[in-house]
Amino acid sequence: MTKFEALGLDKPLLDAISDLGFESPSEVQEKSIPVLLEKETDLVALAQTGTGKTAAFGFPMIQKIQEESRTTQGLILSPTRELCLQITNELKLYSKYVKGLNVVAIYGGASITEQARQIKRGAQIVVATPGRMKDMIGRRMVDISKIDYCVLDEADEMLNMGFFEDIKDILSNTPKEKLTWLFSATMPKEVATIAKKFMHNPVEITVGSKNAGASTVQHEYYVVGGRDRYAALKRLADANPGIFSVVFCRTKRDTQRVAEKLIEDGYNAGALHGDLSQNQRDLVMNSFRKKQVQMLVATDVAARGIDVDDITHVINYQLPDEIETYTHRSGRTGRAGKSGISMVIITRSELRKIKAIEKKIQQDFLSKQIPDGIEICEIQLYHLANKIKETKINKEIDDYLPAINDVLEGIDRDELIKKIVSVEFTQFYNYYSKSKDLNSQDSGNERGISKGDIPSDGSVRYFINVGERDGYDWMSLKDFLRDTLKLEKEDIYNVDTKDTFSFFNSDAQLTELILQTFTEFKIDGRFINVEVSKSPGGSGGGRGGKKRRGKKGGGYRGGNKSYKGAGKKGGYGKKGGKKKQGFY
Ligand code: ADP
Ligand code: MG
Repeated sequence: MTKFEALGLDKPLLDAISDLGFESPSEVQEKSIPVLLEKETDLVALAQTGTGKTAAFGFPMIQKIQEESRTTQGLILSPTRELCLQITNELKLYSKYVKGLNVVAIYGGASITEQARQIKRGAQIVVATPGRMKDMIGRRMVDISKIDYCVLDEADEMLNMGFFEDIKDILSNTPKEKLTWLFSATMPKEVATIAKKFMHNPVEITVGSKNAGASTVQHEYYVVGGRDRYAALKRLADANPGIFSVVFCRTKRDTQRVAEKLIEDGYNAGALHGDLSQNQRDLVMNSFRKKQVQMLVATDVAARGIDVDDITHVINYQLPDEIETYTHRSGRTGRAGKSGISMVIITRSELRKIKAIEKKIQQDFLSKQIPDGIEICEIQLYHLANKIKETKINKEIDDYLPAINDVLEGIDRDELIKKIVSVEFTQFYNYYSKSKDLNSQDSGNERGISKGDIPSDGSVRYFINVGERDGYDWMSLKDFLRDTLKLEKEDIYNVDTKDTFSFFNSDAQLTELILQTFTEFKIDGRFINVEVSKSPGGSGGGRGGKKRRGKKGGGYRGGNKSYKGAGKKGGYGKKGGKKKQGFY
């Protein structure tokens, strides 16, 4: 008996599940499905996005509905057109072996008469946005007076979007005896009110802790001056060459503006907001799904429907007004068991908001530094080297090789490499070598580190030649380093994994141990190489970069709640005096 069978599901569903390749139920499915199948009960289920809620209500609903009857028996309300379509598609997949079952989606922005026609043909399950549903009830295009089951999916988002009155109206057109199943990522008091008002002794299910953000997400903030937001965004993107991200702005105008600037600056970016036509939005979303768009700049409302699993970074270009909204934003990453990073670009006057969010998500933020030009150059350089290594050779070149050899004659290998890399890199380097420090200085120099002063307990930034391609994320790499070096939990910090390499920090007194351990160190026959990074630790705790540029040291950020070490003062010692050389 499979685990799904044990939940009480019948053959048509089990067959579909096996076609879908689901191996075992997710937690919310394990907890909801047996209850909904066996009991005639209302239900409130709290679970993060990406935890499989659609099947948690979809399987039981499909099994319980009588497909022989054409009456509408199940209604699912969801906040956006995109979610509506996603749920409908999922339910169609789940019910592929249930003959005669029709699932119809109704939502705004598409022909209402066509949707009415589909309903008329017989739709046992209707998936709807509240606005269009209300509209169609008013026009008597849909009859929900005989439904047995009503699902409020993403209830918190629906209420956030101001659908309370619509939902109330819609529910008043449904029979009293129906069962209501409410699914939500968070439980703000508005949702509690709905549960109280419209439900009877609901069974409550919570997956993970209430109101907690997905723990696979690391939260980071970067303090910059208000005018440096855009420059900071660019650096964060440049420091993460493989980035696949949603950038959240507060207004449609900012969204459009930031996207346009990114595109002008050569990034694969796109805008998603309500002033675009549905067609334009579909185009952007398609490019994003195909990863042709690497940075999707979006408003909160427009991003509601985004269901893309591999988003590596959520970037809060500005913080939202509502804390709740932050949870929704950061929930776009760290899905499907992957880890993700939610970054907040923030000015000093907004810092107190971080505390409020920490309280809400029950997770601490890391205070990080916008990487400086040197770190970004290093990252780009290694990235470029890897790109060259992995480039498929174009056979057409063979014919021209003798001629090319003539041109390049007398240049040795090292020199040739330098030249090839310089082709792309110099432009980058020129841009960043003159760049300024974007990090907003705080009260300054409490610890009295003066220019050129290298504290012996400083933090050292390292480069290691393994990264995400080797199956590491920041958590697992940290574990690996700790285990290999036999260190304590806090000794390794600011772990930043990139595609084929990574960075991390330790305190300076551990440098010898670390470099020693990773001399001639092999895993599976491959050398694992660790070097002290030339960057002072830009996105982390090091402060040497400021000294190097002769600015005042930025002392310890007093209120910093991030993990131990991240706030430690001092840049790394060894190569601190060296300036912008030795990239090759
Ligand atoms: P939520 O509504 O909680 O955000 P979804 O229902 O949209 O999550 O599911 C997220 C993804 O996980 C979907 O692509 C879905 O097909 C997949 N999924 C759902 N249940 C399982 C399972 N038991 N095993 C594997 N994948 C699953
Ligand atoms: Mg869902």
